[in-house]
Amino acid sequence: MWSQRAVVDYGLAKRATVRSLRTGRTSFDDVCDAHPYLLRAARFHGEATDRPCPVCERQNVTHVTYVYGDELGRSVGRVKSTSDLAEMAREYREFRVYVVEVCQGCAWNHLAVSFVLGNGDPPTES
Ligand SMILES: [Zn+2]
Repeated sequence: MWSQRAVVDYGLAKRATVRSLRTGRTSFDDVCDAHPYLLRAARFHGEATDRPCPVCERQNVTHVTYVYGDELGRSVGRVKSTSDLAEMAREYREFRVYVVEVCQGCAWNHLAVSFVLGNGDPPTES
């Protein structure tokens, strides 16, 4: 199994967004605005979760995973599955993974987590 580095959890920002929606400071249209491309990615390449959508609570959110990195060439910005990631982590030194949660029911979407994978040395803090 590979190890995740430089993990950024967006749970706090996500909860703040949901809270501001509940209190009326943010409108439904502002947060449930998934691009048709993202919704399509969720439908065909996304990975189901058992966590209900925090907005509509009717459907479980789907995770869509994107990869970015200098070494990736034409894979940059592509949607990948978890099994692709394991393979890529062996092949590349370093790339960053962004996991977006998407509700296919109400179009809620928010960054869930991002992390660095790869067989290179851990990034040094500077
Ligand atoms: Zn929803």
